Amino acid sequence: MTRATCDRVYPKGGPEGGVPGCGEPIEWARTIPGQRRMPLDLDRYPDEDERANVAVMPHHTGPYCRVVTKDEPLRDGERRRMPHFATCPVLNPPPPPDLFTDTDHMMER
Ligand SMILES: [Zn+2]
Repeated sequence: MTRATCDRVYPKGGPEGGVPGCGEPIEWARTIPGQRRMPLDLDRYPDEDERANVAVMPHHTGPYCRVVTKDEPLRDGERRRMPHFATCPVLNPPPPPDLFTDTDHMMER
């Protein structure tokens, strides 16, 4: 069972300030090397989409993943996926309201 949702509470004192996760569906994979659990978005990405920089390979104990690099490009049997860290709205809040609009308004006065 690797399907889950992003319900992780991000640590207090970090930039995220102890807030709960976003609740989006994710999948866990174990990193090579290190065997650490990494949350991945469920979306599939085209093989050539370099924004999704993690390669995932199926394994009978659960998927493994690694970072795709120039020296170690995507191999047969691997699929590109996006680390949830890169897309989580809790970790990546939307930008503040359009500052240029405010500046224009000020310059009109
Ligand atoms: Zn999240």
